[in-house]
Formats: sequence, structure tokens, C-alpha cells
Amino acid sequence: MKIKRSWHEWTEHIRQPKNQEQVYSWSRIIQNLVFPPTCLLCGDQGEEKLDLCRNCRETLPYLGNTCRTCGLPLTQSDLPLCGTCLKEPPPFDRMICAFRYEEPIRHLIQSLKFRSRHANARLLGTLLAESFDTAPALPEVVIPVPLHPFRYRERRFNQALEIARVVSSQLSIRLDYATCHRIRPTNAQAQLHAEERRKNIREAFAISSPLAYRHIALLDDVVTTGATVSELATQFRQAGAARIDVWACARALP
Ligand SMILES: [Zn+2]
Ligand SMILES: [Zn+2]
Repeated sequence: MKIKRSWHEWTEHIRQPKNQEQVYSWSRIIQNLVFPPTCLLCGDQGEEKLDLCRNCRETLPYLGNTCRTCGLPLTQSDLPLCGTCLKEPPPFDRMICAFRYEEPIRHLIQSLKFRSRHANARLLGTLLAESFDTAPALPEVVIPVPLHPFRYRERRFNQALEIARVVSSQLSIRLDYATCHRIRPTNAQAQLHAEERRKNIREAFAISSPLAYRHIALLDDVVTTGATVSELATQFRQAGAARIDVWACARALP
């Protein structure tokens, strides 16, 4: 027997949270029919519903075997940690980055940030989520590194949040962008050396307490010296986080 639903019932039905995945897949099907996936790097047809073609995917600078704590490439592949982390571990527990901060990933991140290419966030988030196939324990929540309201008003979006939305949806992890705020405007980190970056970012964030989570992941688009995520991790540790992971699309190599 056919069940007929009125328009009202149907729209009510798709508004229910349990049907969010269904809505998402329908919207993806419609989107793929109207706008078939197109490679954001060369304009060819995308592969596997991704805005990336096979040839361009092969050029991506995957990081490969890295230190499980700081995310930098390992020289001795049989050790899980690098010498620096064995001697002096950073304030977070684990870093997972998908790529080296090199072309064409650099281009995707820069054009998302400075030319508002929002489709790049979808691609970068999907590629980052692919790195978690073998991750043993996923966190309760993903927290994007916040922008200061001044910067937010200027840029009108936070690239880390846009990437985090995609990762959160693909891995079915809660997204939280309300617990942590940037309370102090900071100079652009790009021009600063490691020590200057640490000073520049000190006490730049405020975290609402009590913290509702024990295991969190902080997400940023790029990790350069690690000064920002280290400062955030220190503050989240003080707020009661037991395990802190750091996720980033790209890792700049020293
Ligand atoms: Zn391509
Ligand atoms: Zn390390």
C-alpha cells in the first residue's frame, strides 16, 4: 500500500534529526546531478564524488609515517615517537596531519582563507577525515581553533570551523565552536619566529568551564611551529581535558 504524505508531513519528516543523514545523502545526490564533482585544481571531472581528479590526487603531498605525538616525519620508521617528543613531550597527546604544507594543498588553504573559496573546505575536510581510517580512538568532540571577532568580521568566516564542519559530519563527531573563544587579537603569526609566536599567542584564548569533555580534538587548517595549538592545549588541560588530539590539514616542516 502506498503511503501518501502531504508536503507538510514530508518537510516535517526530513526536519527530524534522525533523518539528517538521509537528507544529507539526498542533497548530495541532487548536487552531484546538477553540479557533477569538478576537480578544484585542474577543472577535470572529479573522482568518487570528490572535487578532485585522480591525476591531481596523485600529486598531493601526503605526510606518510610521522611521530604520533608531534606529527613531524620520522627518520627511523620503526619508532612511534621522534627524539624531541621522547625528551620533551608537547602539551597535547597526539597530532594527526594529512599533508605537508606544500603545493597544491597550500594553494587550496590559501584560496579558502583569502579568496573565500568555500568548496575548498569541503575537499580539505574530506581528505583530512580520510586520515582516520586506522585511528584507534576518536574524540568526543572536535573544536576548531577560533578566530578573534575582529578577524572574523573582516573575513566573515573561520576556515578552521568550515573544515571542522566537514570532518565532524563525516566522522559523526560532535562539533563545538562555543566553548573556546579568542579574547585577545594577535599579530599575524606568519611573519614571526618560533619564540615570538609563543609570546604572541599567550593567553589569547578563553575556555568556558566546567569543560564538558574528557577527550577532545583541536582542529586547525595548518600547524606551523605548533605555538597556537600548544597554547590552546595547555589551557584545555588546565580546564580538565584528559586527552587532547590536534588535527590539521597540513603540517609545515621545519
Ligand atoms: Zn585535477
Ligand atoms: Zn615528535
